[in-house]
Amino acid sequence: MQRVLIVEDETNISELIVYNLKENGYETMIASDGESGLAYALSEKPDLILLDVMLPGKNGFDVCRELREVHHLKTPIIMLTAKSEEIDKILGLEFGADDYVTKPFSVRELMARVKAVLRRSESMPANEEQEPGNKDEKKSDQLIHVGDLTMDIEKHEVRVNDRLVELTFKEFELLKTLAVNRGKVMSRDYLLDKVWGYDYIGETRTVDVHVRYLRLKLGEEEQIIQTIRGVGYKIL
Ligand code: CA
Repeated sequence: MQRVLIVEDETNISELIVYNLKENGYETMIASDGESGLAYALSEKPDLILLDVMLPGKNGFDVCRELREVHHLKTPIIMLTAKSEEIDKILGLEFGADDYVTKPFSVRELMARVKAVLRRSESMPANEEQEPGNKDEKKSDQLIHVGDLTMDIEKHEVRVNDRLVELTFKEFELLKTLAVNRGKVMSRDYLLDKVWGYDYIGETRTVDVHVRYLRLKLGEEEQIIQTIRGVGYKIL
């Protein structure tokens, strides 16, 4: 049974989430402030964390950053936020959450995201699924080379020349999808479906935000991801 930690101070919301997670066959734990959320995340090793941004004491951003940067925890995190302007921050470099849900959210939407994030993280890192990509691609032992960029699918590592680039799970999956389909234009809708695994209608901005951070992290190699206006992205 997969275990979900809910870090949320509003009891009516956490109870609603717990009820629905249990209905869907998940085990749950609740923390009602940032400090105990952090402690539970480290001691209980949940499979997924639902993390509210506005919390008493340590807020959700601090908790997320501390889990990733100080404790190097890879557990998927879905952030709950009331402000859509926080989305860029949440998905970005600084915090490294895997997804977000804006309040007020529909339970159906939240459950869809929980399932999608867990499904994706389950299939990692042994996700050997082959894309209908360029057959001439240089691949050996699950290595993908694009210019100075090397992706090691098995180790979930990306290097530019010899520099190791730290990517979030979604950034890695996005880059991988583009790289194995090298030369083809991938639409935002396709990328959302492929990387996020569900219909994200009206939220193609998520792809743009991730591409922006990927380019930043890849540094000099940023030009390898081409924007095809009005369509999507491709790697040459
Ligand atoms: Ca709150």
